[in-house]
Amino acid sequence: MVREIRLVLTIATLLPDLLGTYGDGGNGLVLAERARRRGNDVRLVTMELGDELPEAEIYLLGGGEDGPQRLARDLLIEGSFHARVEGGATVLAVCAGLQILGESFSVEGDDEFEGLGIVDVRTKRARTRSVGELLVDVGGRALVGFENHGGETSLGDGVTPLGRVRRGRGNDGNFDGFRSGSIWATYAHGPVLALNPWLADELLQSVLGHALEPLVSVADDLYNERVAALNSR
Ligand code: GLN
Repeated sequence: MVREIRLVLTIATLLPDLLGTYGDGGNGLVLAERARRRGNDVRLVTMELGDELPEAEIYLLGGGEDGPQRLARDLLIEGSFHARVEGGATVLAVCAGLQILGESFSVEGDDEFEGLGIVDVRTKRARTRSVGELLVDVGGRALVGFENHGGETSLGDGVTPLGRVRRGRGNDGNFDGFRSGSIWATYAHGPVLALNPWLADELLQSVLGHALEPLVSVADDLYNERVAALNSR
């Protein structure tokens, strides 16, 4: 008997009640919709306060205020998140999400807090807050978004930045975010995957293991407008 095996892709938005600044939860909606429109079966699930970590192929972490960020760190350090990531799950982390994946962070004062220790990056409090438009060159493609954070992040040896900052500050004024194994991280809000459809597709392609059919939508026009506007300033 021939059995058809259909893979269900599970995307989990983690703790949006703590890490939901600027609607970063929209990243899950964008990924799920772009995968569905290419014929994939997708489950989009949310881990809220008090929930167990769901099993998923993609985990999404958003931005957050300093206090909730520490609580999210506590909740994720206790559970099986580390093991899921070591097992190959893909992660997209934005801002506070990026910071908690690292070894340590201090953003609201000089106290240093332990991170999840999943990636060799450290975040210190910067002298000034980074607020405004962000334009990043990611391997020749423009990533647009906006940032609002007090932290400055340095990457350990062997951790590759996601891209080079053209406008704004990102990690440190030179680079934004990082790539480490199956982890993608950026300071860009937007939600970043709604503003940058190409990044959503790169992420999906890396998880699905094959190229996706092009998906033309108004999101591409808005993206092109934003890139042109930022480049002309
Ligand atoms: N609380 C962190 C900081 O200020 C992250 C902020 C955010 O996620 N926008 O650096």
